[in-house]
Amino acid sequence: MDNPKTKPRTVHRLVTPQAVTDGAGVRLRRSIASYALDYLDPFLLLDEFRSDDPNDYIAGFPMHPHRGIETVTYMLAGVVRHKDTLGNSGTIQAGDVQWMTAGGGIMHEEMPEQRDGLLFGFQLWVNLPAKDKMMAPRYQDILEEQIPEVKRETGVTVRVIAGTVDGVKGPVTDIVANPTYLDVAMPPHSRFIQPIERGHTAFVYVFDGEAALGPSSPESGIQAPVLAILGDGDHVEAHTADTPARFLLISGKPLGEPIARYGPFVMNTREEIRQALEDIRNSTFVYRAE
Ligand code: MN
Repeated sequence: MDNPKTKPRTVHRLVTPQAVTDGAGVRLRRSIASYALDYLDPFLLLDEFRSDDPNDYIAGFPMHPHRGIETVTYMLAGVVRHKDTLGNSGTIQAGDVQWMTAGGGIMHEEMPEQRDGLLFGFQLWVNLPAKDKMMAPRYQDILEEQIPEVKRETGVTVRVIAGTVDGVKGPVTDIVANPTYLDVAMPPHSRFIQPIERGHTAFVYVFDGEAALGPSSPESGIQAPVLAILGDGDHVEAHTADTPARFLLISGKPLGEPIARYGPFVMNTREEIRQALEDIRNSTFVYRAE
């Protein structure tokens, strides 16, 4: 990384998360799919849910459809119960990840499995290319203990959900966007460098503390909660001063395709959205093998 020919990525733009209510009345911080940032190809949505007030989450996300996308749920505290029209059900607990490919159609519910206490996690939506939008749905259910944690000499720890850190590969595989999804915890006065493939869209979502992003070590960093869109380059570098930081570092290959989105459906054309709505009306929405 000390090769002078590798270009550092710097902050292209900062996005402050927006307070929104979704599902049956869940309060969230939304930074992608917000007024400030509609789409960050291939990422369609990023929500942080984090509250110890059950009124903020108890209503959950009752049965709803998805088509044309992948939804990635990463839990840090609490438990969410998941159930779908294909007959799958289970819980996503603290430290677990569910990478769901909705493909041609799935209906599912995502409900808190708790009446009180902290519920804390993230949901990311990743777009599917036109050729895969109608694929068979699938899940990658990844338990906390399957996610490797890389500990660096600097005291920085990295949970590798997708992508590779210091030769350690994350458990999420075979995703078209070839994503990196890292949970990075930095102690005070530390430095973190990570290669990111040039041409891939990349962002950092700081959810605790403060970090400075870029090749230099400025006096003050960006403070949680904030999403930083990174410009192009070969690696990202982060620094902390007196305050620790924890953030998601996410990247993926942009699709460069037109999008037509309507709530939980993301297709390429308005006609395909109309078809999705018609399939819901006709009860032919849920994917069936040809
Ligand atoms: Mn959903």
